[in-house]
Amino acid sequence: MSSKKIYTGLIEHYRDRLPVSESTQIISLGEGNTPLIKLHNIPSLLDKDVDIYVKYEGLNPTCSFKDRGMTMAVTKAVENGAKAIICASTGNTSASAAAYAARAGITAFIVIPDGKIAQGKLAQAMIEGAIILQVKGNFDDGMRLVKEVADEAPVTIVNSINPFRLQGQKTAAFEIIEQLGRAPDFHCLPVGNAGNITAHWLGYSEYACADSSLFTNACTSKIGNLSNEQIAKTRPKMLGYQASGAAPFIQGDMVDKPETIATAIRIGYPQSWDYAWTVNKESGGWFDRCSDNEILATQKMLAEKEGIFCEPASAASLAGALRDVESGKIPSNSCIVCTLTGHGLKDPDIAINQSTAPVVKVEASLTQVKSAILNNM
Ligand SMILES: *Cc1c(COP(=O)(O)O)cnc(C)c1O
Repeated sequence: MSSKKIYTGLIEHYRDRLPVSESTQIISLGEGNTPLIKLHNIPSLLDKDVDIYVKYEGLNPTCSFKDRGMTMAVTKAVENGAKAIICASTGNTSASAAAYAARAGITAFIVIPDGKIAQGKLAQAMIEGAIILQVKGNFDDGMRLVKEVADEAPVTIVNSINPFRLQGQKTAAFEIIEQLGRAPDFHCLPVGNAGNITAHWLGYSEYACADSSLFTNACTSKIGNLSNEQIAKTRPKMLGYQASGAAPFIQGDMVDKPETIATAIRIGYPQSWDYAWTVNKESGGWFDRCSDNEILATQKMLAEKEGIFCEPASAASLAGALRDVESGKIPSNSCIVCTLTGHGLKDPDIAINQSTAPVVKVEASLTQVKSAILNNM
């Protein structure tokens, strides 16, 4: 007898790969299972022949990849009896934490920096009923306070230093291998705290049961039915791109006053610093930086040429990839995946400010509408 199964989120889907038991009550909003979209128009503008795919993580329930980690973190917090969670956030973590806390019926405390938080993200956390603590400082100040207060008050931290976050986020790599039938040659990500680049490496390594010092438990079996040849290709080089004004991995040291228009990666003290260097070494990848202008131009190009709208931070992955293809650092015939970490609607002000599409004002008359169309074709 066949029964139709609907998709009920990544924990259920990858249950045997995640630290949950039969009796765990799963807190889910149907996250994961996001599209992997092959770019058509942008690659044809390049001199080189490459395949570029974007993993559109902005289509998660709260419109960023943070939901992958949050479903795990909140599920485990509730399992362990937590009544409240807390996070420091540049915006997306707070939107996600607020949503999963609401779903679980617990309280979310959100520590956000003074200003510099995108409207869409704030709107989400507010309507989802989180208690918002705005600190006079930046993300790094908030993160420090969250770590300190968790020792003094009964709250569970759900930032990516919570190991369950990375467990949930590793499933994006599983999906990519299943969607492509192999791993890409290069995987490009924007890097802030570097939790996501670490989680992806964990996912790729685990899928193939390939060695990585990031495993806390020895890997015992690979996933799926990939051939040995496919498995040999089952780990990409991991490329991490930062904003020029918030680039500790390129500078080789922490940055005290990070500045960038890409607020989601405006981080000077990355929490997964050591992990990310391990990923860099084990995968044979590299870190690089993109200017705010490159980030914005790429965000706009992706929207104009492909109809895909991501937030500024997300565009750093594609901006970096395109530059490295042009320079030859990424060779021709490569298969490249760029993660689009968050949806463009998170930050509508930036999109409107840099939009050049004309708004044509017309009277409500057929002749005027018709001539406006004919004049603009
Ligand atoms: C959180 C976030 C990032 C950075 O991810 P890290 O794991 O901190 O490196 C990038 N882009 C968006 C949209 C984010 O929300």
